[in-house]
Amino acid sequence: MSTVPVAVLGAGQAGLAVSRLLTGSGVEHVVLDRGRPAETWRARPWESLRLLTPNWMSRLPGWSYRGLDEHGFMTAREVAAYLAAYARSFAAPVVGGAELESVRPAAGGYRVDTAAGSWTARTVVVATGWCQSPAVPDVAGALDPRIAQETAASYRSPAALPGGRVLVVGASASGVQLADELAAAGRDVVLATGAHTRLPRTYRGLDILWWLSTMGVFDREFRATGGADPSLQLIGRPDRRDVDLPALQRRGVSLAGRVVSVEGSKVRFAHDLPETTAAADARMSALLHRIDAYAHAVGLDDEIEPLPPPLPAARTDAAAGELDLAAAGFGTVLWATGYRRDYPWLHVPVLDAAGEIRHVRGDTPAPGLHVVGMRRQTRRSSTFLDGVRHDAALVVDAVLAELGATRSVEVAA
Ligand SMILES: Cc1cc2nc3c(=O)[nH]c(=O)nc-3n(C[C@H](O)[C@H](O)[C@H](O)COP(=O)(O)OP(=O)(O)OC[C@H]3O[C@@H](n4cnc5c(N)ncnc54)[C@H](O)[C@@H]3O)c2cc1C
Repeated sequence: MSTVPVAVLGAGQAGLAVSRLLTGSGVEHVVLDRGRPAETWRARPWESLRLLTPNWMSRLPGWSYRGLDEHGFMTAREVAAYLAAYARSFAAPVVGGAELESVRPAAGGYRVDTAAGSWTARTVVVATGWCQSPAVPDVAGALDPRIAQETAASYRSPAALPGGRVLVVGASASGVQLADELAAAGRDVVLATGAHTRLPRTYRGLDILWWLSTMGVFDREFRATGGADPSLQLIGRPDRRDVDLPALQRRGVSLAGRVVSVEGSKVRFAHDLPETTAAADARMSALLHRIDAYAHAVGLDDEIEPLPPPLPAARTDAAAGELDLAAAGFGTVLWATGYRRDYPWLHVPVLDAAGEIRHVRGDTPAPGLHVVGMRRQTRRSSTFLDGVRHDAALVVDAVLAELGATRSVEVAA
């Protein structure tokens, strides 16, 4: 059993950002992970995955993108290399192979048991990730076993799926990316579409995330926690092509509404596609008007491209209400329906009824127990590579106060 002032659980971007700030303040700590730094990016993603955020939006405490392609989009392998280099840059004290077994209160703080040993720590920072495992709706359990089921976490490539048509469920970044890739590989695809936030990749000649970042939309701190925005329907491709619903329809992808029920091989869809797409288009159009107003206010009108014509809307008239997957030749249902978190090892009463860690700006109700990397922890960018530094700084501030250590927090890269 070793004793450390701080145990950080997880060596992804969130845990490493915390570790970098603790290192800068001279605080001894350990970072415990089941794998290597950036294990999530090594282990799970599909082969063609690229970040939807441009490379320059990867600022961590004491680290930023230094390659030649700052407006490009890293592959998963490049993200893993980027974070591994970050960990090396300050000799992050990562202990690998440390699958968490239990975290429980103990004299002087917490006891952390892992497959690689045990630690007692005065404070613990949970950084095990927002996207731990795929969230699949309960109705999946009623699907005919002749139809294969995959998730955005288990999917690898079109060739690795069984033959036949594919029903992709979920039209946020992952769902549209996978539907596009499958259709390009000659698969017949139906995309079940729920709420999403549609964004063009570029607007008036500049990347949409440059606009959101410059205008502070991503990084503005929330006054109150809670609330939710539908996930972004935006992907990062070297050709910067939009992959939205109209683009998918041009490729031959059929659209349907939300999946509402599954009975054997029969899947029923809500008749909500016209409303869902109209709501996404209305949100996008309001945002583009805000960009225009901002550009005008800061005197950018003459520097940027003129107003483009409005983007086309998706056609919603032919949406299927029900499909018999087996009869219609479907081989796979691919769930791109988000992620969930599980903390079976956390024996501290900080979970709410939904099993999420209760916290205010990263401080849980249990003294000395903190969390970082939660969705909308303090801002829209909290779960993004470029946003976690703000929350890491807040959490490290709280940890230093608990330890009575000197504050020396740097936020900027
Ligand atoms: C498909 C996808 C695409 C994304 N694209 C972007 C993007 O374009 N831009 C962007 O900024 N963000 C993107 N994100 C969001 C975010 O950047 C990632 O989710 C990122 O991995 C979150 O970092 P994290 O450090 O919070 O969690 P993780 O990277 O998941 O790190 C958590 C670490 O904890 C470890 N761990 C977890 N549980 C245990 C356990 N029980 N025992 C021991 N170790 C454990 C894991 O091995 C892992 O190393 C994307 C996310 C996904 C899923």
